[in-house]
Amino acid sequence: MSRSPVWHPFTQHAIEPAMPSVVRTEGAWLETNDGRHILDAISSWWVVTHGHRHSRIMEAIRNATEMLDQVIFAGLTHQPAEQLASALIEIVPAGLDWVFYSDSGSTSVEVALKMALGYYRNIGAPRSRIVVMEHSYHGDTIGTMSVGARGVFNAAYEPLLFEVDTIPFPAAGREQETLDRFEAFSRDRRAAALIVEPLVLGAGGMLMYPAWVLTELKKITEASGTLLIADEVMTGWGRTGTMFACEQASISPDILCTSKGLTGGTIPLAATLATDAIFQAHYSEDRQKTFFHSSSYTANPIACAAALANVEIWRDEPVAERIAALSAGQAVGLRRFRNNANFTDCRATGTIAALDLRAGSAGYLAEIGPKLRAFFLERGLLVRPLGNVLYVLPPYCITGEELDRLYDAIEEAGERFG
Ligand code: PLP
Repeated sequence: MSRSPVWHPFTQHAIEPAMPSVVRTEGAWLETNDGRHILDAISSWWVVTHGHRHSRIMEAIRNATEMLDQVIFAGLTHQPAEQLASALIEIVPAGLDWVFYSDSGSTSVEVALKMALGYYRNIGAPRSRIVVMEHSYHGDTIGTMSVGARGVFNAAYEPLLFEVDTIPFPAAGREQETLDRFEAFSRDRRAAALIVEPLVLGAGGMLMYPAWVLTELKKITEASGTLLIADEVMTGWGRTGTMFACEQASISPDILCTSKGLTGGTIPLAATLATDAIFQAHYSEDRQKTFFHSSSYTANPIACAAALANVEIWRDEPVAERIAALSAGQAVGLRRFRNNANFTDCRATGTIAALDLRAGSAGYLAEIGPKLRAFFLERGLLVRPLGNVLYVLPPYCITGEELDRLYDAIEEAGERFG
């Protein structure tokens, strides 16, 4: 067989075993070309919410293609984008009145950073710093790597990254330190924005912190005029138990980034939502104050139609009940690990559960990661540990039996590798 020319993401091809080829997806399952069935316990990198190929979203995509393909979004508009924007504004925390479209989580964050700096420049009080949280991940573009944790993911690109101010992760008992450090950074009014992953830091190791910390951080942003950017790319669309994680802190950020679950995990789309104050700072007869950002596929009509169908599913189907059931199932699944010596910690926020295996360490380079991945794949389970951090982040349609199967395998992995 000839060698494939495909260069895969986050993949060391020199050691990667042969990759299964997926020919079909359905619900929580992937089917390969050799007839194997694999349970997608990570929602295909956290994008699939209701389940693969939800019929309503697939139908919306089919219908949209009867009328539209890509349409330039500068100087023209279209109904799917207009309708979706109106629908999103109803769903997100109050005060986010403007919707800017892009294509991925990373671009939604790039847009947010540019909006924050543009805001301060346009109101005539430039600010140049961004405050970030330790262990964060916001994407792999230069801007998003700059505001993410430094390490193996971005070491080679360090010369291109900009400097940021970092507050500690608010681990249990260290919350006040986080707040004090942020207050200190805010004092000189140089910080344009604080960017956070609300409640759960994903790629940084599924680290979780309580909602009250976010509430307190928001108070400090208000006192200092620093904008709060909530990167809800992973946490949005029910992952943490509520539609958006910010709701649990009873806050509205100044800017909110969403992608992944926006189309239910079917096709790429992202949106950055902003307050009217941020929009007004860019609204001027002075064309230099224009928000200078675009990508060719901005607001793709087919993707917008898929997202609209997703919003309708939330409106018409018992999604909240499914999320509550999955969250309860995760809590039950974790219960059996409380006194399991092979694991040093287990935790959950809403539908996201994570366990730290005693052996190995966190991080991409930890040898245990690929071994665990192979172990689960042999058992027909798609689990992609972050080093020794095992996490379960499945589509909301997963059944109790399927969850049990996952936790049985995790227990076995503990015995084998812990
Ligand atoms: N922000 C967060 C919190 C994420 O988890 C991710 C991806 O995992 C991103 C941004 C980047 O999203 P994308 O991979 O769609 O560019």
